Amino acid sequence: MPDIGFVNGRFLPLEEATVSVEDRGFQFGDGVYEVIRTYHGRPFHLDAHLARLERSAKAIELPLPWNIQQWTAHVHEGIKRGGYAESKVYLQLTRGAAPRDHSFPASTKPTAVMTVREMRPMDPALQASGVTVMTMDDWRWGRCDIKSVNLLPNVMARQKAKQAGAFEAVFVRNGLVTEGAVSNVMTVKAGHVLTAPEGEQILSGVTRTVMLDLIRKEGLPVEERFVALDEFLRADEIFLTGTTVEVLPVVGVDGQPIGSGKPGPVTQKLQAAFQRFVG
Ligand code: PLP
Repeated sequence: MPDIGFVNGRFLPLEEATVSVEDRGFQFGDGVYEVIRTYHGRPFHLDAHLARLERSAKAIELPLPWNIQQWTAHVHEGIKRGGYAESKVYLQLTRGAAPRDHSFPASTKPTAVMTVREMRPMDPALQASGVTVMTMDDWRWGRCDIKSVNLLPNVMARQKAKQAGAFEAVFVRNGLVTEGAVSNVMTVKAGHVLTAPEGEQILSGVTRTVMLDLIRKEGLPVEERFVALDEFLRADEIFLTGTTVEVLPVVGVDGQPIGSGKPGPVTQKLQAAFQRFVG
């Protein structure tokens, strides 16, 4: 089965899908994106992803070429064409191709790209054993709520973490934990789940929102507030949430064990709740 490409409304094999070298996504990172996965062949919380795409596009003054119903139809069509048991859908919208100039072109047609690939879930052994993370300075810009394609700080951070043998980079701004390079971060202290509040310092994850709901349903107290680095290092438990990581225990930070050094009971309970939720 070929991977699926899609450019401006046209489906084609992925290797034939191309955009101009003058595309502003390529030239300036002038674009936004979404990553959506399926469970049981159905896109998970597609409405929430498309609403976030709309918010991101609006924040950079980029008009959407289609309404939500049309995007939904394109995503469903892509998943159908891919024919995978589980799919990973990538959507990218840029300000289109124009001669290079930082300010917006007078008139431009946005470029909309989609790819559909097989979704390979995370290694279940890693989900069970947990991962380690590395903290680092949050050197990103001030609008982390926009899911922009400018991912260089995240790319550099994740590479540094990888080189240090850690799974994820966790950003710290002014002494406060914000989020991971590809995930949101949740900290458990004395039975309370703490996570950075929505705002310009984090990307409000679709999985984060689902988890906050599940945590409340499980009857656990939740606080949406920043956690200081020293509090983070003394946490009982930590876990990450995200489309690709789902609910992933963190058992070590910067080479030090967290709690018992094994996935804790709250994390395991919430992992199980998430798995029940996605069926
Ligand atoms: N934070 C950042 C910086 C991300 O890149 C992502 C996902 O890519 C997330 C959080 C998690 O978001 P979601 O749960 O919508 O995948």
